[in-house]
Amino acid sequence: MQEVEPFAKPSVLLEQHPTPADLAARMLYTAEASFGDIDGRIVADLGAGCGVLSMGAALLGADHVVAVEIDPSAAAVAQENAVEFEVQVDVMLSDVSNLPLRRGGFDTVVMNPPFGTKAKGIDMVFLQQALGLVRRGGAVYSMHKSSTREHVMSKGKEWGAKSEVIAQLLFPIPKVHRHHKHESLDVHVDLWRFHLPELAATTKP
Ligand code: SAH
Repeated sequence: MQEVEPFAKPSVLLEQHPTPADLAARMLYTAEASFGDIDGRIVADLGAGCGVLSMGAALLGADHVVAVEIDPSAAAVAQENAVEFEVQVDVMLSDVSNLPLRRGGFDTVVMNPPFGTKAKGIDMVFLQQALGLVRRGGAVYSMHKSSTREHVMSKGKEWGAKSEVIAQLLFPIPKVHRHHKHESLDVHVDLWRFHLPELAATTKP
């Protein structure tokens, strides 16, 4: 997955940090090997960037992958990556806050959303939208700064999901933006799985 072409000119405002191949693989492998959430599934990737998670999901046997991205240049790179990897990924240019996708129409959402450092609260907008897209019994995999763990947990609960941190990772953010003082900065992130439980069967009176 290290072959996936990265952002040509990463945007600071959009928090464009590609997921390193090993972390992307970790998310997808756990989703598939431990939970069976990728192979044969209908998958959405929100804030797909250049599509590393989409490519990985397609390679692991997802039935259909929709990659949603707001930035046309990143979406174009994702499209090229899909051609290069010879996988079928539908790249959709859209703002995640306002998604024209069917609620409950997906089995699984995978995402590495903006962490909300620039646009406050966008990480939780992504989570709420992701939980709206998956069907009952479906799951959302996402990464969030470990410093926001309590908040993420309470939002997950508010939106009806069973939430668990399945791994704690170090996310290296390389110095691609001029304002970064260090060569790279390791950010502690949690890899989350949010699961929407099936509705309890109603018993007839
Ligand atoms: N998921 C990719 C990119 C992560 S960076 C990866 O794992 O490598 C976050 C991405 O979210 C960027 O590509 C950015 O352009 C996109 N993004 C930010 N705000 C968005 C919004 N409101 N709607 C859709 N995409 C958005």
